[in-house]
Amino acid sequence: MRRVALDLEPSPEEMHRLVAAAMARIVPHLASLGEQPAADVDGAADVARSLVASMPRAGRPVEELLALLFERAVLKSFNTAGPGYLAYIPGGGLFASAVADLIADAVNRYVGVWIAAPALAQLETNVVRFFSDLVGFGETGGGILTSGGSLANLTGIVTARRERLPEDFLSGMLYASEEAHHSIKKAALLAGFPPSAVRTLPVDDRFRLRPDALRDAVRKDRAAGRRPFLVVANAGSTNTGAVDDLDAIADVARDEQLWLHVDAAYGGFFLLTARGRSALHGIERADSVVLDPHKSLFLPYGTGSLVVRDAGSLRRAHSVAADYMPPTQEDRDRVDFCEISPELSRDFRGLRVWLPLNLYGTDAFAHTLDEKLDLALWACDELRRIPNIEIVAEPQLSLVAFRLAPEGRSAHDLDALNRRLVERVNARRRVHLSGTTAAGRYVARVCVLSFRTHRDRVEQAIEDVHASADELSLS
Ligand SMILES: *Cc1c(COP(=O)(O)O)cnc(C)c1O
Repeated sequence: MRRVALDLEPSPEEMHRLVAAAMARIVPHLASLGEQPAADVDGAADVARSLVASMPRAGRPVEELLALLFERAVLKSFNTAGPGYLAYIPGGGLFASAVADLIADAVNRYVGVWIAAPALAQLETNVVRFFSDLVGFGETGGGILTSGGSLANLTGIVTARRERLPEDFLSGMLYASEEAHHSIKKAALLAGFPPSAVRTLPVDDRFRLRPDALRDAVRKDRAAGRRPFLVVANAGSTNTGAVDDLDAIADVARDEQLWLHVDAAYGGFFLLTARGRSALHGIERADSVVLDPHKSLFLPYGTGSLVVRDAGSLRRAHSVAADYMPPTQEDRDRVDFCEISPELSRDFRGLRVWLPLNLYGTDAFAHTLDEKLDLALWACDELRRIPNIEIVAEPQLSLVAFRLAPEGRSAHDLDALNRRLVERVNARRRVHLSGTTAAGRYVARVCVLSFRTHRDRVEQAIEDVHASADELSLS
């Protein structure tokens, strides 16, 4: 029987039908990810324009809505979930997290305050504890899940500001290398600092922040009456995959009393592997660390995290009382997320991390990340063999930057040539690469990180770079 059209509660049968209808679209879509183009935005702007519409007064059949999504909207995009996506920082998007989101949204419990759902808050706390332990923060460590790395960087910088600067904080100075993610500058702005408060420091020939330059800049600023308080180190830069010498930077931070914030949004979960732990040595000396589960833990977009050495620092930066709120917890083991983060009402995002970690176990993640490290090394070796290709940044984790550099061309020509190289590779649609500027030169980059990317796809990437490089070298 059809229910009253104005009723928002589906019957049990309708619930099953709704989910089954969605699954009937989702499963074939996911099963064919590998055959779909690595990106297809031809005519996408026209499709977008054709979808301009207001909200209807009366409802429409679900099949019609799913057809709109799966036949018109979804496919006209970068295939960020597919195995050929090697641009920017991929992740893939574990299906188990989608199931977790369905459960979390369906039960719709309130995890922002502990008393409202203590057991569910505990599951999220277990996730955060796992992240904090992975970094090596020990007993006093704590943290939060955010919607992504940008918000985690913002929360880290606000926390450092509250801990290290007076209320009148405008003489505070932040330090980051020229390789730092732009969300750091944005976070500093949002945290109330003028652009001039962020000092951009030079990097070495492997794109790592130079500790000597940090020390010099801090001393100069202090001598000029400014207040250096925070340094941001990279544990896997977005640009070239650079991992700073975290131990050396921690030494400077200790000597100069700076808060050490490590941006490990891309590289953080390589801590699950032996090679990653060795590359990120010293991260345990940080005051705060950003990790992005939607990158190196393969989750769907929407989950970042900030972990801190001293959980109390988050509370001091965020706790504000209100009469209408339920009592907050004194016991350190009972976490009120609203007390230690900028958010109050929010999704139960812990479940989308908790479910896959428990379903597959952490060994499966470590194994998959090791595979990515191997694939990036293999890709680098293969790229080096292609005539006229030079490696600009060798993999420090799973990212390699390279360029086509035939002799006798000007710097300007080489930049244009490499833009064409990326375009040509992408036009073949088996893989999708992105380019960037490193040390003033335009470079192509391959970032192997999706759990769906395996050896066969990286071989295709090499073939397509090789063929495109040959074409361009001849022209
Ligand atoms: C992706 C990234 C960010 C920003 O994270 P979002 O989740 O995209 O907001 C910050 N820092 C680094 C190093 C990143 O790779």
